[in-house]
Amino acid sequence: MPKLPAFDIKTNISQSPHLVILGAGASKAAFPKAEVSGKIAPVMSELIECLDLRPLLESHNIHCEDTDFESLYDDLVTSGKHPDLVNEIECRVKDYFSQLNLPDETTIYDYLVLSLREKDLIASFNWDPFLAQAWRRNSNVVKLPKIVFLHGNVEIAICLKHRRKDFIGKNCEKCGESLTPTPLLYPVKQKNYSAHSFIEAEWNELRHSLKYTYFLTIFGYATPKTDIEARKLLLNEWKKNPTFELAQIEIIDIKPRGELTENWKEFFCRDHYGISTSIWNSYLFSYPRRSCEAFAMATLQNSPWKDNPYPHTNDLKKLQEWAKLLWFEENNGKLSGNPHEYL
Ligand SMILES: [Zn+2]
Repeated sequence: MPKLPAFDIKTNISQSPHLVILGAGASKAAFPKAEVSGKIAPVMSELIECLDLRPLLESHNIHCEDTDFESLYDDLVTSGKHPDLVNEIECRVKDYFSQLNLPDETTIYDYLVLSLREKDLIASFNWDPFLAQAWRRNSNVVKLPKIVFLHGNVEIAICLKHRRKDFIGKNCEKCGESLTPTPLLYPVKQKNYSAHSFIEAEWNELRHSLKYTYFLTIFGYATPKTDIEARKLLLNEWKKNPTFELAQIEIIDIKPRGELTENWKEFFCRDHYGISTSIWNSYLFSYPRRSCEAFAMATLQNSPWKDNPYPHTNDLKKLQEWAKLLWFEENNGKLSGNPHEYL
């Protein structure tokens, strides 16, 4: 018998985490056109254009027909012939992503951070600052999930000596020194997730969560060719999860369903998965801050809760007020499962 997820039938509270893994497609969904300064949130295939790399490459006699940034970068690093060029590309990546910003209105990232609780985790492969900025501006409203950055992040800084992690521009609360930017992990086939202690710690957090997760959402993450290592790590830990046979996976992606099923089938247990093209149809946004409980009630208790979908609003304050009501109920130590207006 698989181990049951941690669910208290007296309080209707689940202590099992909901884990969300984010890739570049999530930022694309949040900003299908451009973010506030007019820059686009690029997926890998758009990076060569975004960073205006062609003239730079041509000045080194490199003529790339392809638009695949990952293959280009991997080839450059593997050849070892152009260290200055590699350095320049890395600087452009950092500069570009550092300039991105959330608009004042609500974004998918605000909805996302508010839809999870302290026990939950969002693990992002993205360099862009959107998740961290959304976390920061909602963190004084309700308790939010933990966030980790598997390839580093332009908005996060660290003091390695005192193992502190905070937002860029802040000082270490222990030594008072200004925190240093996190390393960014670039797309090479032979990634070493243990080479830097910050990246290693972020991965350890993800590994731990995968072992206990009861609901896994994969949002806009495509496991690209250079991420074979990441995929192996994710799958190994997921298979060790004692509730694997009962847990659920949700894939949010605009790719064809058949392609997604094929790509993720090793992660699925029988029919315990759902695929959707929009985060708005996800379990997460249908039962904000209650996804694991709603899933347990539907599958273990055979007493499904009614949907409690998010309101669509551009007003961040309104969304925060809505989320606060859920948080008040959490503080009472018992969840009703009632839709929002009856809380
Ligand atoms: Zn320090």
